[in-house]
Amino acid sequence: MENSFDLIVIGGGSGGLAAAQRATEYGASVALIESGRLGGTCVNVGCVPKKVMWNAASIAHVMHEAAGYGFSISTQGHDWNELKVKRDAYVARLNGIYARNLEQKNITTFEGRARFLGPHKVGVSGHTLTSPHVVIATGGYPTLPDVPGVDLGITSDGFFELEQRPERVLIAGSGYVSVELAGVFRSLGSEVTVLTRKDGVLRSFDPMLRESLMDAMARDGIEVVTRAVPLAVSGSAGQIDLEIEDGRHFRGYDCLLWAVGRSPASADLALANAGVRMDAAGFVPTDEYQNTNVDGIYALGDITGREALTPVAIAAGRRLADRVFGGMTDRHLDYANIPTVIFSHPPIGTVGMTEPEAHARYGEAVKTYTSRFVPLYQSMFEDKSQTAMKLITAGAEEKVVGCHVIGPGADEMMQGFAVAIRMGARKQDLDDTVAIHPTSAEELVTMRQVQGG
Ligand SMILES: Cc1cc2nc3c(=O)[nH]c(=O)nc-3n(C[C@H](O)[C@H](O)[C@H](O)COP(=O)(O)OP(=O)(O)OC[C@H]3O[C@@H](n4cnc5c(N)ncnc54)[C@H](O)[C@@H]3O)c2cc1C
Repeated sequence: MENSFDLIVIGGGSGGLAAAQRATEYGASVALIESGRLGGTCVNVGCVPKKVMWNAASIAHVMHEAAGYGFSISTQGHDWNELKVKRDAYVARLNGIYARNLEQKNITTFEGRARFLGPHKVGVSGHTLTSPHVVIATGGYPTLPDVPGVDLGITSDGFFELEQRPERVLIAGSGYVSVELAGVFRSLGSEVTVLTRKDGVLRSFDPMLRESLMDAMARDGIEVVTRAVPLAVSGSAGQIDLEIEDGRHFRGYDCLLWAVGRSPASADLALANAGVRMDAAGFVPTDEYQNTNVDGIYALGDITGREALTPVAIAAGRRLADRVFGGMTDRHLDYANIPTVIFSHPPIGTVGMTEPEAHARYGEAVKTYTSRFVPLYQSMFEDKSQTAMKLITAGAEEKVVGCHVIGPGADEMMQGFAVAIRMGARKQDLDDTVAIHPTSAEELVTMRQVQGG
């Protein structure tokens, strides 16, 4: 059976759903193809269930801290599986909401794995679909390293299947998934070791954030082992051993979690049948309008290899539909100054350039303001931790080009500053903004200390 549509969207994750739904608002007929669960990575094995676990971990921290405020609390422990069951039910509800939304919007959904049969022809589960416009929004999946015994480990996908909290966890990887899941395990009671290939976690982030987070992880009892490259895994489930390249062994773990990156889901799309180019890693590059090298075929979200974040995929999808079906000929996503949060303990909020990036771009014209302080909340504790902030400005006007915060509340702090920075805020604009007191965020509009000065 051959069906023709105004738009075919491959992938029902953050980006694909956004593009499909926006396109139908302009009256386009849309087919959406999804091989797994609607909502994609974010809803099923990413942001949403991860944030639930981060919330649980944050509650554990607060219960620990409550004594500082005069509470005497005893708990009966934490029931990991009870939370998992509730979390899964919540995700299932979201899956249902997505399905109903698609139905209400008259989007025709096909279940199965899509394959290009030609530039504007896509096959799925025995159907052949045609359209002048095809969006590739197939996202990615967790990468596994090429080491013997790799299958004894799990990935972030497997993390969400755990029915019990493992007691001893070994995490290989230095990115945000590694530090976030390490924080969850540790806060809920596991012993955690993190192995990083190079000199620490979050390599692409500002050095202040990386150093502060490594300190915080150490204070929380997470062991971070640097320059540790996995070589081989042995043992059995519950008793896993990992050998690293320099001969050191890590023995007796009941959970090994690979958090070594994500790979693009492009291999089985048969992109060659459509003439769509991939890069060496399998990502599908696009121009700033999400156009691939083939007319009428677009890519967006994680599959493009750009910032792998849900709001980025959504924004790219909506803007593409605005442009193709809404007549907004120049509508596209500006990838500069995308804010992001790492849900570590404590959280990190960041937008714009790191200090090394700013120096590389603006040289001597960079000025940096830093602040390190004990937040009022922490002042009741014996063991106080600090919040760290950095503002990076460029040029005589001191335009803010980077803003980095690590500390409680950083996650909710950054969205508003991202608006200001996107609008071209200068340091003087922050100085002229009246502070909100007493908060940690007020420090960002009262910073005077120039780094090194
Ligand atoms: C553990 C974890 C935590 C995260 N936390 C955050 C966070 O806090 N904040 C944030 O912004 N981002 C977070 N992310 C990233 C975020 O989930 C992704 O950036 C986002 O989901 C990308 O959306 P997408 O539409 O590009 O792809 P996806 O959401 O991955 O959707 C792609 C869909 O395509 C389907 N598919 C693949 N191949 C085919 C095919 N051949 N045919 C049909 N369907 C196919 C897949 O089944 C999938 O449903 C997290 C990711 C992970 C793994």
